[in-house]
Amino acid sequence: MRPGSVLLSQTQIRTRVRQLGRSITHHYRGKSPLFLGVMNGALFFLADLLRAVDLDTEVSCVRLASYAGKQSSGIVNGLDALGDSFAGRHVLIVDDILDTGRTLSALTRHLKKLGATDVKICVLLEKRRKHEIPVKADWVGFKIADEFVVGYGLDYDGRYRGLKKIRVLEKPTK
Ligand code: 5GP
Ligand code: MG
Repeated sequence: MRPGSVLLSQTQIRTRVRQLGRSITHHYRGKSPLFLGVMNGALFFLADLLRAVDLDTEVSCVRLASYAGKQSSGIVNGLDALGDSFAGRHVLIVDDILDTGRTLSALTRHLKKLGATDVKICVLLEKRRKHEIPVKADWVGFKIADEFVVGYGLDYDGRYRGLKKIRVLEKPTK
């Protein structure tokens, strides 16, 4: 498997992240939201989004994983590592992609249990298919087909995160 055709160029990503930044800034005007990045996939998106908003933000990260290769395992690992600093906070979860919905629904529930006042979700990508768990993202960069993509933080078993464009993972033709 290797990165194939380009789905989103650097310019498309940059333009869309700026738009999301403006909309998020408008929404949280006067508040100090806590941006919670889901590592490692949201690495670049979180960094670019933070620089696209004009807000008094705090940033934290959580490392969650549910995927092995191209398959969702169904179990979300890493929630226990979340600290107790969420009580009374407006939390914006920043993630790379909404697929089955398991990760984001488990995380949202957990943050509410920890006392967050409000939990919203911003994803760069959302797959156009029925999520197994119903989750609604408040901000979505791009809706994409149900294909496995890599680049701009998204990996295939740890590889290809550093690609600047988002590409579809393809089987080698030979
Ligand atoms: P969910 O829990 O919604 O099924 O999955 C969310 C996580 O699975 C994402 O944060 C991401 O890490 C991984 N994932 C889902 N679809 C893709 C994909 O097309 N490409 C890559 N690289 N990761 C994906
Ligand atoms: Mg992820």
